[in-house]
Amino acid sequence: MSIRLRLTAWYSGILFITLLAFSLAVYGFVHLYTYDELKSRIQQQYNKIIPVITILEDGSLGFSPDRTSQKRMEDADLYVQTYTFKNQSTLLSDNMRLRGLHFDVPPLSKAEKESGFKMKNVGGYPFLVYQDFVYTEGTNEIYGWLQVGAYTGTAEETLARLRSVLFTGSLATLIIASTLGLFLARKSMKPIQTVADAANQIQKGTDLSVRIEYDGPQDEIGRLIDTFNGMLERTEGFYKELEDAYAAQRRFVSDASHELRTPLTTIRGNVDLLHKIWAGSPSERPNIDEETLKEISVEAVGDISDEAKRMSRLLSDMLSLARADTGQTFEKDQIALQPLIEEVVRRANFLPRKAEWHTGDLSLLNGVYVEGNRDYLQQVLFIFIENGFKYTPEGEVRLDVVLYKGQVGIRFSDTGIGMDKDEVPHIFERFYRADQSRGVTEGTGLGLSIAKWIIDVHGGSVEVVTRRGEGSTFIVWLPVIFAPPLE
Ligand code: ADP
Repeated sequence: MSIRLRLTAWYSGILFITLLAFSLAVYGFVHLYTYDELKSRIQQQYNKIIPVITILEDGSLGFSPDRTSQKRMEDADLYVQTYTFKNQSTLLSDNMRLRGLHFDVPPLSKAEKESGFKMKNVGGYPFLVYQDFVYTEGTNEIYGWLQVGAYTGTAEETLARLRSVLFTGSLATLIIASTLGLFLARKSMKPIQTVADAANQIQKGTDLSVRIEYDGPQDEIGRLIDTFNGMLERTEGFYKELEDAYAAQRRFVSDASHELRTPLTTIRGNVDLLHKIWAGSPSERPNIDEETLKEISVEAVGDISDEAKRMSRLLSDMLSLARADTGQTFEKDQIALQPLIEEVVRRANFLPRKAEWHTGDLSLLNGVYVEGNRDYLQQVLFIFIENGFKYTPEGEVRLDVVLYKGQVGIRFSDTGIGMDKDEVPHIFERFYRADQSRGVTEGTGLGLSIAKWIIDVHGGSVEVVTRRGEGSTFIVWLPVIFAPPLE
């Protein structure tokens, strides 16, 4: 059974019980009140009649002063009958006589049981009658039987009307409320149906861009839909990230194999050449003098060595990036920046370069500490300095530092070949090399990717300003901690 029907059934059931209880209570109260009132009226009049009952001359019972009390009875819509057991005579009030009514009288032997209030049907009319013995004064002997009754037809009619009003009213309320309840339950369940449909659609296909349209209030269902949509958005985000990561991984593998193939081809070519020269008998050797052969061989060995170095550099870079991909980080300490940079600046003097190498005022960094790893920070600095040297055939490469809003900026500026603006977003991608660098300078296109990863792990950022033919400036920003010297 659907929730919708179950809700309606519960709701209707509770309403039915409530209406039933309410109707019974109303009916019971009105019934009780009507008959209580009637009974007390009859009883009152009965008590008033008893003292005015006398034995008439013929030995039967009568009223004294009969007319007035009778009149009062009739005004009160009561019907009075006396019966004398001795001579079996019956005296009726005028209203009874005129209408030809009379109450039946039980035989004396059963009369005692019959005393009290009784419902009677007289000539097809309903009556409530109070009846009891009449005793003779003084001797207290049973003499007669007095019956005072009231017509209950009107009360019965009223009660019957009340019954039908309560019944039809309750039935109509129940039908209307159940229909309305079913409609409301369907309306409020509709968004849930939509959620289920959307979930089903996603489960069947792979379309994560599905969202549930809802412009209702922010109630439980509104919040459920919001949560569901949020969940879908996040899942879609994760899925896209995963797809991107997978695509990047594939690109990386294909670029890496391509990059490794080039040195391997050179190595194989040179090995084949050496094999040709030296493996066979001297008669099979090319017709070249010994000195030239030696020169060719030394050159081939040199090529092999260079390519082997290039491969091992490439492999170590790839290893670093593979570690980065597994989310591996490194241990960090409080590092005093000034001595670290001074050391790098000193060692940079020995790097191959054509440009001049200058540094700004590093004393600014006195007492400046960053949370970082010494080796990795040095690696970052070398990547930018080596790039500066590589891409500056003449002019100047410069390193200086700035402090700004709790960050230290290490600025590498050169007057080298620079880059086009549209190349800048790609230079941190793996294996990316700007067009003018390819073939002109040696490189793997991995340096800046590694630098970016190291900077990210240090909570820093990097800024690039460059213009083709005019040079480039890279600023590495790192968060500063001003810790006192440790010693
Ligand atoms: P690699 O230098 O091995 O090619 P990098 O990742 O270090 O790889 O750099 C990516 C590319 O960014 C380089 O190929 C080059 O085109 C460009 N680039 C990096 N630094 C500079 C620079 N200082 N001046 C001009 N171009 C640069």
